[in-house]
Amino acid sequence: MTTLRETLATGTPTFSFEFFPPRTEAGERTLWNAIRRIEPIGPSFVSVTYGAGGSSRDRTIDVTKRIAAETTLRPVAHLTAVGHSVAELRHIIGAYADAGVRDVLVLRGDPPGDPKGAWVPHPHGFTHAHELVRLVRQLGDFSVGVAAFPERHPRSADWADDIRHFAAKCRAGADYAITQMFFHVEDYLRLRDRLAAVGCLTPIIPEIMPATDFRQIARFAELSNARFPTGLAARLEAAGDNPADAHRIGVEHATLMAERLLAEGAPGLHYITLNRSTATLEIHENIRPTRSLRTSDRSFHALAAAH
Ligand code: FAD
Repeated sequence: MTTLRETLATGTPTFSFEFFPPRTEAGERTLWNAIRRIEPIGPSFVSVTYGAGGSSRDRTIDVTKRIAAETTLRPVAHLTAVGHSVAELRHIIGAYADAGVRDVLVLRGDPPGDPKGAWVPHPHGFTHAHELVRLVRQLGDFSVGVAAFPERHPRSADWADDIRHFAAKCRAGADYAITQMFFHVEDYLRLRDRLAAVGCLTPIIPEIMPATDFRQIARFAELSNARFPTGLAARLEAAGDNPADAHRIGVEHATLMAERLLAEGAPGLHYITLNRSTATLEIHENIRPTRSLRTSDRSFHALAAAH
């Protein structure tokens, strides 16, 4: 099976879906329903987030291995450095390789318990993501992704700091990046320009979060420091307890973002599913005409969208 590095090199926009490891049997059923609904449309990959610790990590590894063994999908395994010695990280990477997983999204992770608290590295582990990128590349022919932050990482002192550290991940061997959720396309475009200005042309896949549940998304946005558009917030609040209205508004906003990002030449779209497929599949269907544009047509489309 080819890796995501090779797929991205073709220049055809990728589309992909992110899941998280479920905590209960009911959650497991919901996840597998979503996976089975997504499978027939042939996404470029699906990814499974890495839990903060203990059993949720085992579930990440189990779900990822099961996707590799029992579906036609390409799994991208998330892996963080939190609480792991280098020896443990080697062992996990080996287990992924054993299961035929060749794509890893490498992250530093946040302190467990309080994601905004002080970062304490494992005494025999890593402090920053670029070290883990290097390890994964040393251990085999993996295709490696890293995180990018359109509104800059909250721990970076300034943009120069953020861009320098991102470029270090690319020099360590990252093939592509996936962004943190964001709601303003300009933030993505500015990040891409800043990276291009320092010669970093690594493909940055934007993450799309359909804002169909205002309270939930506002909480995620706060945790990830993403600015939530006031107009969208007001429309979702006005929808009140009407889930159908909120769903329509969230899908509409995400569709517009997705269309504009593709028109601006984004290398793909990565949808956060929260283990449900309905909203993301609707967005994916809505953008079918933009997806079918060839790269050469897309620059024209971007110009048209800007005027
Ligand atoms: P790093 O690249 O190490 O950066 C962290 C901070 O350290 C930045 O401010 C950076 O500028 C700074 N820094 C980097 N190198 C240096 C250096 N040499 N010296 C000084 N400062 C430096 N978390 C999970 O727990 N599980 C997941 O599955 C998960 N999936 C994610 C998927 C995506 C697409 C994204 C965007 C994030 C995900 N996260 C996940 C969250 C991520 O772990 C956190 O955002 C974390 O705070 C940053 O990780 P990083 O890999 O960017 O770290």
